[in-house]
Amino acid sequence: MSILITGGSGFIGSHLADHLLDESNDKILVLDDFSTGDAGNLDHLDTDRVEVRDGDIRDAETVRETVGDADAVYHLAAAVGVQNIVENPLNSLKTNLEGTENVLEAAAEDRTPVFLASSSEVYGKSEDVPFSESDDAVYGPTTTTRWGYATAKATDEFLALAYADERDLPVVIGRYFNIVGPRQTGQYGMVIPTFVEQALAGEDLTVYGDGTQTRSFTHVADAVELTHELLENEDAHGEIFNVGAPDPTSINDLADRAIELTDSDSEITHVPFEKVYGEDFEEPDQREPDVTKLRETLGWTPEADLDRILTDVIDERTSEEVVAE
Ligand code: UDP
Repeated sequence: MSILITGGSGFIGSHLADHLLDESNDKILVLDDFSTGDAGNLDHLDTDRVEVRDGDIRDAETVRETVGDADAVYHLAAAVGVQNIVENPLNSLKTNLEGTENVLEAAAEDRTPVFLASSSEVYGKSEDVPFSESDDAVYGPTTTTRWGYATAKATDEFLALAYADERDLPVVIGRYFNIVGPRQTGQYGMVIPTFVEQALAGEDLTVYGDGTQTRSFTHVADAVELTHELLENEDAHGEIFNVGAPDPTSINDLADRAIELTDSDSEITHVPFEKVYGEDFEEPDQREPDVTKLRETLGWTPEADLDRILTDVIDERTSEEVVAE
């Protein structure tokens, strides 16, 4: 079998490639434009079983050809990172809307199973935690760029469900909750690589806002295992699942723990959101998945284990430093 991972050179995509290579004899086909991905994320893989194609998911013909060569598709290619999305809204919207439509349309030709990577961002600024899949989403105005990302991801979900319904496409939607771990870059504003790098460098950790906002950090190893199991499970087809660990952490606590585990002298500094993301920025205060549906379907859910996540990221960053010296 040939399994396509769009965005396969990215953080989650490359971990999924590792996982699928370990768990099966399948060949992995990667489609990536290397905009936010990194070819280096795939360097360690056995090239006989991995084919990488450099292409843009906004190009329907490229997508049609590549999906045509695949027996299943994990659609992970997307514009990611709040900072990236706020700074490049047009590119983000087009990538997330046109790209997903191209993938679904191409997959519908042969009814090739698709996993669609969605986001906890689709719940918007709802405060009704924990979020379960059928809960209401709460968005702010269209003048606030962030909600364009949430709406695009929600539209991707509508599209996927419509393809499932009207074109009989086997599709599973996974809403990722702050997936973190080694290989994630801090370049697009993600908090864990940023804090770990700041703590290791002895710089102040930049906590945005008052730091009481919470996130449910989920280890990428758990996320890719769940992703694989969801697409393999026919009961999951046509359904939406939260992919995340319960028990959220506040950003203040995260910063404290990053300092402790790196044994750093760094201090914490609070930075107002508008200084980072500009005026009109809105921040979801709380984010926590209800994992009942995941447990009922797959029989397990990931554990919130912030120390394991931080230690894995710290180990990766410190071993890179040793290599670089
Ligand atoms: N954050 C922070 N300092 C940073 C980067 C992010 O305090 O240097 C905060 C951010 O405002 C958010 C949380 O950490 O409340 C998680 O941010 P991330 O961008 O990793 O994911 P998000 O949940 O915003 O998609």
